Amino acid sequence: MSILTPDTKIYLAGHRGLVGSAIHRRLENDGFANVVTRTHTELDLKDQVAVRDFFEAERPEVVILAAAKVGGILANSEAPVDFLYDNLMIASNVTHASYQHDVKKLLNLGSSCIYPKFAPQPIPEDSLLTGALEPTNRAYAVAKIAAIELCDAYRQQHGADFISAMPTNLYGPGDNFDLRTSHVLPALLRKMHEAKVERRDAVEVWGSGTPRREFLFVDDLADAALFLLDNVSEPGPINVGTGEDITIRDLALLIADVVGFEGDLAFDASKPDGTPRKLLDVSRLRDLGWTASTGLREGIEATYAWYLNARGAQGARG
Ligand code: GDP
Repeated sequence: MSILTPDTKIYLAGHRGLVGSAIHRRLENDGFANVVTRTHTELDLKDQVAVRDFFEAERPEVVILAAAKVGGILANSEAPVDFLYDNLMIASNVTHASYQHDVKKLLNLGSSCIYPKFAPQPIPEDSLLTGALEPTNRAYAVAKIAAIELCDAYRQQHGADFISAMPTNLYGPGDNFDLRTSHVLPALLRKMHEAKVERRDAVEVWGSGTPRREFLFVDDLADAALFLLDNVSEPGPINVGTGEDITIRDLALLIADVVGFEGDLAFDASKPDGTPRKLLDVSRLRDLGWTASTGLREGIEATYAWYLNARGAQGARG
């Protein structure tokens, strides 16, 4: 029987983030009428007592853990405490409260940076903990590995049905466009848009342009999340991606094309490249019956439309 019915009480942690807002939209569109959310100010997930009280009062049946301190390559290297401490606390408090309050299913969302820097490509799930991590986001990765371990430990020791999904680099509506903390795709969208508007000749692209990354449209992740909740009950991470990657240079060219920026790319070698390649092996999820449906150009176009709209709204508010 499906765990998700229209009445299932679902606690969606992190409903305002990129991932959480996509899952929220999807749950609303699908007619789930019993979705519980809390803003950061209403419930600090780092506060163990507050989390316990919240679970005691709300008693969710299903928990989707999409709350996390996240950021791009620079933010990760500048604020490792935030990425390690915050994420460890959030994962510990939410999994423990879920166990204590008999949550029937928990989906823990992580990220592909949990895998070793030099993992085989595409990266299979069983490469977890087989080698050293990429130093620029090690703090975040260690916290996310601990979250998977927590889910597996509750399953092993207490029979809890907690699962973990590891999406590849995500992008889409609701993305972070702050240039210091954002990931590459929204950063380049914004830079190219502004360069076009200001009629500048070149856009700065960090690093060498040679690293390869895989990008998943966040609405596809929302689709995968519901699929996993209904179809998967096993320990360990499950990769969610498209199965295809692209160099940063080609991504920049594609974004320039979507935005209509005709100037040059200026590669800034003083900025870090990060891990050389990050492509997930998605065969496990594919064998279970799920594949991503949004092409990269289509997803970038949708994200650009959302960005223009959000900028417009911001401008209108003054
Ligand atoms: P990562 O996947 O964890 O390395 O995180 P990012 O999305 O931040 O960076 C991916 C790659 O894009 C790295 O090689 C960055 O150096 C490169 N990149 C190029 N331009 C930018 C930019 O403007 N912002 C960010 N965040 N990355 C950029």
